[in-house]
Amino acid sequence: MNALPVVPMAGARPLAPRISAHTEAFWTRLAGGVFGVAHCELCGHLTFPPKAHCPACGAAGLGWWPVCGGGTVYSATTVHAAPALFAALVPYVLVVLDLDEGVRLVTRWMGSPPRCGAAAQLVLLRHDDGVLFGATQR
Ligand SMILES: [Zn+2]
Repeated sequence: MNALPVVPMAGARPLAPRISAHTEAFWTRLAGGVFGVAHCELCGHLTFPPKAHCPACGAAGLGWWPVCGGGTVYSATTVHAAPALFAALVPYVLVVLDLDEGVRLVTRWMGSPPRCGAAAQLVLLRHDDGVLFGATQR
């Protein structure tokens, strides 16, 4: 497991994440460059976003599993009409990304819209007020 590549971002995050008891460890790890997904110690299921119970077996008390950050674009869309908080970013690209570890998530894509099946890499978006994550071409 390596630290994610860092992409410096101008200004503050358009919307800071809401930190909860279930997500605090994720954001702390991400600030250090490590993208972790929730790991069920009972059945081994990996899941994202972090949650209190395993969606596969219902067990509580999930642990953490650092991922490599590599993946494949499942689908992509370009947003032209965004909520007011994200209006300054328009147009921007969102992707559904399948991580190499088998977890599917949605994230912002940094760069020209990718084709489905493109190799991708999670990146750390370092804003003035904290971090977010995105993905780019690998
Ligand atoms: Zn489980």
